[in-house]
Amino acid sequence: SWGSLSDKNVYDWSSEEEEPDGRARPIQVLLVKDDHTFELDEAALSRILLSEEVRDREVVAISVAGAFRKGKSFLMDFMLRYMYNHASENWLGNPEEPLTGFSWRGGSERETTGIQIWSEVFLVDKPDGRKVAVLLMDTQGTFDSQSTLRDSATVFALSTMIILQITCYNIVTLFQLFTEYGRLAMEETFLKPFQSMIFLVRDWSFPYEFPYGQEGGMKFLEKRLKISENQHEELQNVRKHIHSCFTNISCFLMPHPGLKVATNPHFDGRIKEIDGEFINNLTVLVPWLLSPRNIDVKEINGSKITCRGLLEYFKAYIKIYQG
Ligand code: GDP
Ligand code: MG
Repeated sequence: SWGSLSDKNVYDWSSEEEEPDGRARPIQVLLVKDDHTFELDEAALSRILLSEEVRDREVVAISVAGAFRKGKSFLMDFMLRYMYNHASENWLGNPEEPLTGFSWRGGSERETTGIQIWSEVFLVDKPDGRKVAVLLMDTQGTFDSQSTLRDSATVFALSTMIILQITCYNIVTLFQLFTEYGRLAMEETFLKPFQSMIFLVRDWSFPYEFPYGQEGGMKFLEKRLKISENQHEELQNVRKHIHSCFTNISCFLMPHPGLKVATNPHFDGRIKEIDGEFINNLTVLVPWLLSPRNIDVKEINGSKITCRGLLEYFKAYIKIYQG
């Protein structure tokens, strides 16, 4: 019957590869398995990146990397809302609307490690007349043991190779990644790292020391990344390495979103229940990352990458790791 068909279409797409009702959704394109091997769902990735409207467009891929339960997917979903509302002034929309998109939720159960991408690639008109494709990628990593650290480094490297990195704050873990595996991941690949890295510091609680936002973040980062002679040599090297990996490094300090967000299991993402200070900064952060004026295609070895090129890049990268 009509009813059951549409129910299935609306609610049962998570188990199917196709999008029977055409609704966009997250697609797991890279999976890190329990034995630490990688599986790339080339068919799924191809369907998205080789679709006619986008395949020859220059692409900007935005990814958020970091440990579990840091609010990566939550933030990604605000980016989706911004994209779906066409970067309009009132992109935040109805304050009582639940937040949907990539699945975000509290709890501590284990999650898969890998990369999900949003099945809809957005086309953005830049003020200079160019049209660029925007791909949103959500990564899931663990940082809890040596082996998972290596997996995460790979997921991390794969996503950092691509344009923009938003990292939920744990500078110490990041330093560790860069020293132990980051270097390996970055150097083994034939493509030089090229993109911007943004450290997103969440739950910042010293606004009187460094104010929320990008300027406070830059001052904070300068302090943290400053190389001084009396530092331990290893620490000095990590800091130099971070600078050599990324053309652009910035930092944004985000306030705490409030207790409902952090602890209430029934919280559904509605803006009404999120601290105002967090929302204020969200309305700065998201357009800073995604507004048509700010979003830009970076180059790999001097040429701009298209969706088709990105697919080849993923394939080649995975091959290196599968040996
Ligand atoms: P992910 O595993 O990094 O993708 O994390 P999720 O986006 O699934 O969010 C995990 C939990 O953190 C959810 O309960 C969110 O409500 C909560 N959360 C989201 N953003 C923040 C934040 O900035 N600070 C805090 N403390 N909690 C957050
Ligand atoms: Mg997540």
